[in-house]
Amino acid sequence: MRKKIVAGNWKMNTSLQEGVDLAKGVSLLLKKLSGNEVVVAISPPYTHLYEINKVINPNILLTAQNCSYEEKGAYTGEVSPQMLKSANCKAIIIGHSERRKYFYETNSNLTKKINLCLSNDLIPIYCCGEELKERKKNNHFNIIEKQINEALFHLSNEEFKKIVIAYEPVWAIGTGVTASPEQAQEMHAFIRNVLGKQYGTDAANSTSILYGGSCKADNATSLFAKPDVDGGLIGGAALKAKDFVEIVNSF
Ligand code: PEP
Repeated sequence: MRKKIVAGNWKMNTSLQEGVDLAKGVSLLLKKLSGNEVVVAISPPYTHLYEINKVINPNILLTAQNCSYEEKGAYTGEVSPQMLKSANCKAIIIGHSERRKYFYETNSNLTKKINLCLSNDLIPIYCCGEELKERKKNNHFNIIEKQINEALFHLSNEEFKKIVIAYEPVWAIGTGVTASPEQAQEMHAFIRNVLGKQYGTDAANSTSILYGGSCKADNATSLFAKPDVDGGLIGGAALKAKDFVEIVNSF
């Protein structure tokens, strides 16, 4: 079912105590918004998940920022989807552009991560996005189609239903430059069309497609007002409870 989702990606920020306080702050502010039909997710660093799970409103979807593409074994430093599930995670961000850029993640490795998420009943939030130079060459639609095709189109219709997509233009992440609502809508509609060709219109219309890239309280309303924008993946603005909850409340 297509849902409105606002997910906070904390990246490599906050000490354990700061993270617990932030999660408590988000929970407290959200309590005042009862009746809000938006699904809220927070994605703290791995080290914080266990403690944060104890303090959050149970409606908040505890989400990890990454996972291993292996199930278990001799992979020093890796954390498997199964481990994340045991820490009560419900979703995992897969293929964030920072992971693609700094940790050389490829669409084929991301495919394995997505498969493991699904077999552990975890929701993959699959990120795609073009670089500025690709947009300038008018190649952005091809890039996004390739990222979606290579990482997702091996999935069955049943599996595909569990996927959430985040369109995050790389030039907008952490830069303060947001895609305009029209640019976001254009790409989200394109993605929905690509999904529709593979999985059918009903499946495409049931998929939540989030926008990410310098989304803040003062621009979220106009972005979320677009018909194909189903919410946001929020970086910087997720680090202050009040700012994040204002975004949640922007629909
Ligand atoms: C992100 O990291 O997914 C992101 C969208 O970051 P920011 O909101 O800071 O641009």
